Amino acid sequence: MIWERPLLSAMRSREQFLASLNDGREAYYRGQRVDSIAEHPVLRIAAEHAAKLYDVPRELRDPALGQDVSGYFVLPRSPAELLARHRLVYATTMACHGVFNISQAIGSDALAAMSVIAPKIDRKHATPYAARVEAYRRRVATEDLTLALAQTDMKGDRRRRPHEQPDPDMYVHVTDVRPEGIVVSGAKAHTTQAAVSDEIVVIPTRAMSEKDADFAVAFAVPAATKGLTFIVRPIEELEGNDQAILARSDYEFETITIFDQVFVPWERVFLCREHEFAGAVAIGFATYHRFTAVSYRAATANLYLGTASLVARTNGISEASHVRDKMLRLVLYKEVMRMSALTAAQFPLMDEGQAIPNPLYTNIGKLYSNQNFSGVLEALVDLSGGILATLPARSDFENPVEGPYLAKYLAAAEDGPRRTEVLRLAKELGVSSFAGYMMALMIHAEGSVEASKMAILRDYDLTEAETLVEGLLTPK
Ligand SMILES: Cc1cc2nc3c(=O)[nH]c(=O)nc-3n(C[C@H](O)[C@H](O)[C@H](O)COP(=O)(O)OP(=O)(O)OC[C@H]3O[C@@H](n4cnc5c(N)ncnc54)[C@H](O)[C@@H]3O)c2cc1C
Repeated sequence: MIWERPLLSAMRSREQFLASLNDGREAYYRGQRVDSIAEHPVLRIAAEHAAKLYDVPRELRDPALGQDVSGYFVLPRSPAELLARHRLVYATTMACHGVFNISQAIGSDALAAMSVIAPKIDRKHATPYAARVEAYRRRVATEDLTLALAQTDMKGDRRRRPHEQPDPDMYVHVTDVRPEGIVVSGAKAHTTQAAVSDEIVVIPTRAMSEKDADFAVAFAVPAATKGLTFIVRPIEELEGNDQAILARSDYEFETITIFDQVFVPWERVFLCREHEFAGAVAIGFATYHRFTAVSYRAATANLYLGTASLVARTNGISEASHVRDKMLRLVLYKEVMRMSALTAAQFPLMDEGQAIPNPLYTNIGKLYSNQNFSGVLEALVDLSGGILATLPARSDFENPVEGPYLAKYLAAAEDGPRRTEVLRLAKELGVSSFAGYMMALMIHAEGSVEASKMAILRDYDLTEAETLVEGLLTPK
């Protein structure tokens, strides 16, 4: 346990959080309006997953507030505080059976980035963004709120910049500026846990040119805001899979998040048309969030590593050399993630008094996880055997005639029922619709493969390597 003090009673409880979701927010699932997400037969699992955050010890002293708040909302100012953040993400993921809990992680990543960039915007444009970001951070920290983060726009035709799109709603943009605030329209894609969050924080997805100024907008709104609609993806890893084990306990969902003439009061606006800062906000958030990504992915890797180990044992193959080779691949996957997080924490960039995870080491870990997850799946499937494709249904195991046959013939180094339970989890993780979902997540979530490659090469200093070679080439 990384936080030794007990949970403060002043902090929010899981029950308070779940009750607060019944606020009239407009969410749809499989073509139906959802009245109460916390009571929905499928979506309540994602709500309860989010609520597990409130069972994890998270308290950390916030120097600006002079009180203990969730460590997610404390702005890191040193390698030690970045390390604490890594541990918090890791511990929360482990408390959720290896499934990331995004509910305070992603929004606080955005607030950390905005806290660095807002003062720079203010210095250039005499705007009040730094004070607004800080006031918002204090509010969400003291109320212990959950925040979804909507960055990825629908984007439309990928060849065109936002202002070139035939339909401007492909990127969230400002449609009106009023004395009391702004009005925005458009839609964001893949917003994780948006319909089970208190607040939706919105930031730009990319750098913006002057012509794209209306699209350079950042703000936060409560989930029940008028004009905000959440269309939840189908939870195929649970529905249609009666053998699911993990998805019955923990999963997160994404929404297409639609903003239809949503009004945002000025105190919640953090960027409005200062287009030259949109890229800095996008990249600043991405760096913090990829640090979160390598932190939770190290914990998630335990799911695959642990299951592969149990599968090998139940099949009686643990000592075979090719099995050890596959296990090594899984160990590397987990530990490269962790090394990336630890090194990024140890060598931060300092800006505006804040510690930013080292972008190079963060993106190297992130890229490794993008490019090697297919090898993780392949290792698990290989060790499990073809039974992952042909395992009979749970109802066959429960039938009094078939059940005893299956218990007898599925025995290997361990008895049939035990081996079957391990294989069910291996099937869910390795070849089910959950595995497909994880493949897309591991490649795209927290930014695409190309985004990480660009981040690595953008500022890479080649001087040391070139000097070495020049020294060799220059005649003595
Ligand atoms: C499970 C999951 C959870 C997520 N959660 C969140 C979240 O909570 N909040 C959030 O904001 N986002 C979230 N994302 C979004 C994630 O960051 C994006 O999926 C990622 O940045 C890729 O963007 P995209 O999906 O629009 O892919 P696309 O942009 O459609 O990429 C598809 C392909 O097109 C290429 N491409 C795109 N544009 C160009 C171009 N101009 N020129 C050449 N090639 C191009 C890409 O490199 C890629 O190969 C999530 C994604 C997933 C899968």
